[in-house]
Amino acid sequence: MPNRLQNKVAIITGAGQGIGAAISRRLTREGAKIVLVDINADCLESLAHELGTESLAIAADISRKDQVLSMVKQAKDAFGSIDILVNNAGIIRDGFLSRLSEDDWDKVMDVNLKGPFLCCQAVFDIMKAQNSGKIVNIVSRSWLGNIGQANYSASKGGLVSLTRTLALELARFQINVNAVAPGLIETPMTKNMPEEALARLLRMQPTGKMGSVDDIAAAVAFLSSGDGDFINGQILHVDGGKSCGLLSL
Ligand code: NAP
Repeated sequence: MPNRLQNKVAIITGAGQGIGAAISRRLTREGAKIVLVDINADCLESLAHELGTESLAIAADISRKDQVLSMVKQAKDAFGSIDILVNNAGIIRDGFLSRLSEDDWDKVMDVNLKGPFLCCQAVFDIMKAQNSGKIVNIVSRSWLGNIGQANYSASKGGLVSLTRTLALELARFQINVNAVAPGLIETPMTKNMPEEALARLLRMQPTGKMGSVDDIAAAVAFLSSGDGDFINGQILHVDGGKSCGLLSL
């Protein structure tokens, strides 16, 4: 295992389970101190215990500005710097256009798009003063479009645009902003999908199987490290090739 993140401080949102927990474990193994952030406090404590003393668990809702500002302050007070921000927390509220409620639209936008915006804004002054920083946004292959996910796809498409814009705005402060776009990954989020929807997605998957959370964590670790210093504003699809085109089966 490379040791590329020695003494770096990383905030991971949605760290309590799934992809966020895997990213937290991977970045810890590469030497980082981890700030675990999740709306669900219960799942954070055991992970913080597993990761050891160089980790801090903070319960926060990333769609609430007051909670984001407080979370970033606690992180800075605890570890002195913030070198990496991984905007991973995200939710789905799927439905075809005619059945999608306004509430489901707003909730998904609040968590998936406004949340990362608030987190980027909250860490900006700290990274600017350091003249260094890495931001990795977890989007989704669905940003290219996906039936039944108008709200989710639009939120992730918005996050792609946010990534590219902030890459341009923040580059002169040596802050890199990139995105990782997972395809179908085995997590609690996908386990809760209706069986029929999951089977349809697997039929469209070039590899015929789901990816693992560790596949995503490896890509995030790479982009968070010095190995990614000249990579900025990019969307790295980690999806077994699905973004290359539709399979005709
Ligand atoms: P997950 O298993 O549902 O984990 C997401 C975590 O974020 C949960 O612990 C969740 O808490 C938390 N969270 C939800 N709303 C939050 C908020 N407002 N503030 C802070 N934390 C919040 O999801 P995942 O499958 O690991 O997905 C992680 C990211 O990858 C998401 O952005 C997702 O869109 C993206 N992604 C996943 C897949 C996939 O196949 N799994 C594919 C493409 C992209 P609760 O459980 O209490 O809601």
